Amino acid sequence: MGKIILLDNALSNMIAAGEVVERPSSVVKELVENSLDAKATSIQIAIHDAGRTKIVVNDNGEGMDRDDAVLALKRHATSKIKTEFDLFRIKTLGFRGEALPSIASVSKMTLETSTGRGGTKIQAHEDNITINDAPARTGTTITVEELFYNTPARLKYLKSDQTETSSCIESVSRLAIGHPHVSFSFTVDDKVVFKTSGRGDQLETIMQVFGATSAKNMVPFAYSCPDFTISGFLGKPDIAKSNRYYMITLMNGRAVYMPKIQAAIIEGYRDFLPNVRFPFTILNLKVDPSLVDVNVHPSKREIRFSKEDLLKQVLVEMIPNHLKQTSLVAQPIISNIKKTAPDHIDNASLSLFEPNTEYVANAPQPAVIGDGAIIAKLRAMAQLHFTYIVATSHTGALVLIDQHAAAERINYEKFQAMAKTSTYQVTPLVPLLIELKPSEARLLDESKITALEETGLTLVPFGINTYQVTQIPIWAREYDERQYVEGLVDQIIHLEKIDILALRDEAIATKSCKRSLKANQSLSMTEMQKLIDDLLKTENPFSCPHGRPTMIEFSQYELEKMFKRTGF
Ligand code: ADP
Ligand code: MG
Repeated sequence: MGKIILLDNALSNMIAAGEVVERPSSVVKELVENSLDAKATSIQIAIHDAGRTKIVVNDNGEGMDRDDAVLALKRHATSKIKTEFDLFRIKTLGFRGEALPSIASVSKMTLETSTGRGGTKIQAHEDNITINDAPARTGTTITVEELFYNTPARLKYLKSDQTETSSCIESVSRLAIGHPHVSFSFTVDDKVVFKTSGRGDQLETIMQVFGATSAKNMVPFAYSCPDFTISGFLGKPDIAKSNRYYMITLMNGRAVYMPKIQAAIIEGYRDFLPNVRFPFTILNLKVDPSLVDVNVHPSKREIRFSKEDLLKQVLVEMIPNHLKQTSLVAQPIISNIKKTAPDHIDNASLSLFEPNTEYVANAPQPAVIGDGAIIAKLRAMAQLHFTYIVATSHTGALVLIDQHAAAERINYEKFQAMAKTSTYQVTPLVPLLIELKPSEARLLDESKITALEETGLTLVPFGINTYQVTQIPIWAREYDERQYVEGLVDQIIHLEKIDILALRDEAIATKSCKRSLKANQSLSMTEMQKLIDDLLKTENPFSCPHGRPTMIEFSQYELEKMFKRTGF
């Protein structure tokens, strides 16, 4: 008798804190994830003394009213799990309603929040909670001071300021890269570490977080199958690192640790990197959360994914293919030539693709095709394997063009322009019913139907798990309507977050691919010339919408060099 006691609240929070709050970076991560969950579009993060004395996370999210704010500090209070089904979908993302009370139990926490109507300021110091009014500025600011002041063992376990600061930078970097639509600003001891624009462009975010050199040496990739969609960037071997920290995997936007996938990426780079170097990669993985297994470790976010073997296989095959293609495009020879080229050689004749000054300053780096390109005219000469067009440029270069990739680029930009300018909806040519599996129908909630509507697709319920498509965007007419609609519905169901622009872009990319001229197709000289002219008129003539190059260039200088007609 009397052996079993209920832990008091403060003590059980401290025990939970041991799991959730290991170090300052875990506090930063939990707080920023809450801001993201609250749909913030702008998040400011500041840490002082490696997060030991102060961490501030300020967001413009939806905020909390007073009752919710008080509740948020209680254990297992979460607004994110309402049904058992939610629990199943969501548990892998760590919604357990534990973060705020855990952090509050090992620090002095101040929470200021408002939904726009009235505002609340709560100070939680030890077990005392004081509640005051605050300005009605929509959003939330959480200040965590003197972290671990009451848990000396934790404090002792912390590493050097530099290590803890680096860990915070890593956490915030990953969150920023995973959320290019959110503008992040991160300061360490009042010095700005990075700011991101939140414009939704992941490559731009990479540049803002990791710098221009990293961004310039990234090869985009994308692949999708019924079980998952992947996209992201493969760092060229030149920017490889000595550790694995730059191998970033984002599952539905959240940084996760997947050792097997990491191993598969390293395997994919095997022929391109020495053993001691690790690639810089960003892998965005979109999956149905029900295919994801429970956390192996709650704070490290190590996860298992039931289609992991398939994903591994895709990566191991895709990575070397992409890198091989790029090694042709990004020609290290050019950068050597640039450096040694004597003045009398007109720079423009060295390459069609003039690198910008920043790149020259950072030489030797492979030239990335398309950087500030100057292309006037290409003349079609012949067709090779019914797949490539052999052309010459006014600068004397030999250029090979992939006819399918070129057509894809042209169509992509054409459709994009149409989709942008026309919101005109029409009824499908034949009545269109979309029948979903019950598991999928549950996922197609109101917000997703609204998001589809914004892409020009109107669905009306039509019996159990069935929808009638009453309206489609006019430009979808040029496509197999059913395939287009099913593709979009499938995407919206399986994406965690609804990203209309990406959705539309993806639809357009798929559409331009399907409708494009294929390889193994004979072309007349006129057709080839027309394709080239149209390609050169596009905004980004150097790659197809999936990031593969459309053309490969051998400058006159390189040809001379290969034939050893030059002195260097
Ligand atoms: P969880 O994120 O698992 O729900 P937390 O302890 O991290 O648990 O947060 C508890 C609750 O507090 C959240 O479910 C949310 O409703 C609310 N909350 C926390 N941070 C914010 C924020 N920045 N903006 C709005 N609501 C927040
Ligand atoms: Mg949380």
